[in-house]
Amino acid sequence: MSTTTPRTVLITGGNRGIGYAIAEEFVAQGHRVAVTARSGMGPEGTLTVIADVTDGASIDAAFTEVEKELGPVEVVVANAGITRDTLMMRMSEDDFTSVIDTNLTGAFRVVKRASKGMLKARFGRIVLISSVVGLYGSAGQVNYSASKSALVGLARSVSRELGARGITANVVAPGFIETDMTAELPEAQQAEYKKSIPAGRYGSAGEVAKAVAWLAGDDAAYITGAVIPVDGGLGMGH
Ligand code: NDP
Repeated sequence: MSTTTPRTVLITGGNRGIGYAIAEEFVAQGHRVAVTARSGMGPEGTLTVIADVTDGASIDAAFTEVEKELGPVEVVVANAGITRDTLMMRMSEDDFTSVIDTNLTGAFRVVKRASKGMLKARFGRIVLISSVVGLYGSAGQVNYSASKSALVGLARSVSRELGARGITANVVAPGFIETDMTAELPEAQQAEYKKSIPAGRYGSAGEVAKAVAWLAGDDAAYITGAVIPVDGGLGMGH
């Protein structure tokens, strides 16, 4: 039988979408859960702290508040992310750097701050939310795809730096998940994606949450530097 040690968990962007579902799953499994939000709130049973991942000082303040209220952060999920889709020929440098700043540098800020307490505790679980398009590529998403593939290098390098201290760093790569982010895509593009998903359907945020919680759980202690797809087979052969 699997065991679940209650942990203090912090999820960025936990006020909606996949982050919200991840927070719900950790609460259901009996953990102490905090989420960051720029607006809105996390699900019932969570502590919501205000933070913007593009602002290192606000991340630091959010961790300090969570540490005070719930104890040192043992599990961190870097989930906050944005898209600014357009073909490369039309993509401005700001379109590119703002997506990198949120999705990649934002994850770096969060992981670096989390690692302080994890090193002290000689325990930590880091989960980065990437995307199938990180390794698959996607026309119109040069910025987003680059930010998401870089998370693999980040997680693997952190695994090499901190692996001997009881800290794991893994990547979850969702495919097409029904949230606000994908609702913005044109219908024709949505239908096109659906045709190429072996499972024949989109995924739910809850299905991503299950994989994240498992990676953070006791049974995944020997898994680090891994990329776990939750994509209905869309990215097979990555
Ligand atoms: P949503 O657009 O529904 O939610 C994005 C979340 O990120 C919101 O909570 C948002 O906060 C937060 N966020 C964005 N920018 C910042 C910032 N600068 N600081 C703090 N929080 C921020 O997206 P999803 O739930 O769909 O996506 C969650 C993650 O999963 C993202 O990293 C995304 O790239 C990834 N993903 C999603 C897929 C999908 O199909 N939906 C597929 C693959 C990966 P606010 O409400 O304040 O804007």
